[in-house]
Amino acid sequence: MLIDKFDRKIDYIRVSVTSRCNFRCLYCMPNTPFDWIPHEKVMRYEEMFEFLKLAIDEGVNKIRITGGEPLLRKDLDKFIKMLYDYKPELDLALTTNGYYLSEMAKTLKKAGLKRVNISLDSLKPEVAKKIAQKDVLDKVLKGIDEAINVGLGVKLNTVVMKGINDNEILDLLKFAENKNLTIRFIEFMENERAYPDIKRVDSKEILEKISKEYNFKELPKDNSASNYFEMDNGYKFGIIEPHSDNFCKKCNRIRLTAEGFLIPCLFFTESYNIKEAIRDGNIKKAAEILRDVVKNKPEKNDWQEDEVSTRAFWETGG
Ligand code: SAM
Ligand code: SF4
Repeated sequence: MLIDKFDRKIDYIRVSVTSRCNFRCLYCMPNTPFDWIPHEKVMRYEEMFEFLKLAIDEGVNKIRITGGEPLLRKDLDKFIKMLYDYKPELDLALTTNGYYLSEMAKTLKKAGLKRVNISLDSLKPEVAKKIAQKDVLDKVLKGIDEAINVGLGVKLNTVVMKGINDNEILDLLKFAENKNLTIRFIEFMENERAYPDIKRVDSKEILEKISKEYNFKELPKDNSASNYFEMDNGYKFGIIEPHSDNFCKKCNRIRLTAEGFLIPCLFFTESYNIKEAIRDGNIKKAAEILRDVVKNKPEKNDWQEDEVSTRAFWETGG
């Protein structure tokens, strides 16, 4: 079992399978990167699988595939199947911008994927285009519908930005409620790679906007990154507030990048190379590195102090 210094049980790994993306979201990678990682530096699926087997044997029971845009990596369904076959009861999830989901959802579900989180930042084609710097909305909406059709669990993620999409909070909430999907509003996390003019809307403001039309109550915090709220009619939505004090208290996750680095915390630059040990076939060493990463997981991120991270979201996978 993986337990850190603050008594948090680490049972969740987010795996970024590529840092490439077909969007250029203002809050993530508006201009960069142009220096894509050379092919040989990227961990092969078999190598990721070797490491993940180790982590699963140590008690990891949830794996989320992310990126960059994970649907850009070839043979993703085969990777999912490897994980599913190793432990069918794993909570196998994916975070995607949804653009290729209408084509791929069925195959991914068949391979063993259980759930998808789909980014949806606007319901207006022009605003979605401004945020992703590409005309995306129609394809993303089709992706959402297809994911529902094939029976995947679906949640929506919205990064709320002042003056860009904060006037759509209620519309997005209603859209999600009509489809019976949970939506989570995410506070923008300041990072050096984002478009400099982006301003966060904090959870208090988000909740104020929602309270103009709905009554809701906060639900007890579990160990997900989100705080959940329940409306009078039973519908639940979430808010992800990394700037709040209790965001990190129940953090149960570490991250693996496409290049084979393990990252204890999304905010900080610390990382541990696991690829070399796996390429050398040195599983004992890989297990030691995994334990070091868990041991050195910081107590909390620095967004709580309103700092700016130097970490790129397209590397860490968010
Ligand atoms: N491309 C996929 C997508 O956009 O869903 C997966 C990778 S993306 C890096 C993972 C998550 O990080 C998305 O939900 C995205 O909205 C979120 N994200 C990226 N940059 C962010 C930022 N600066 N602040 C808050 N969330 C961010
Ligand atoms: Fe791509 Fe996701 Fe980053 Fe947007 S948030 S640029 S879709 S990796």
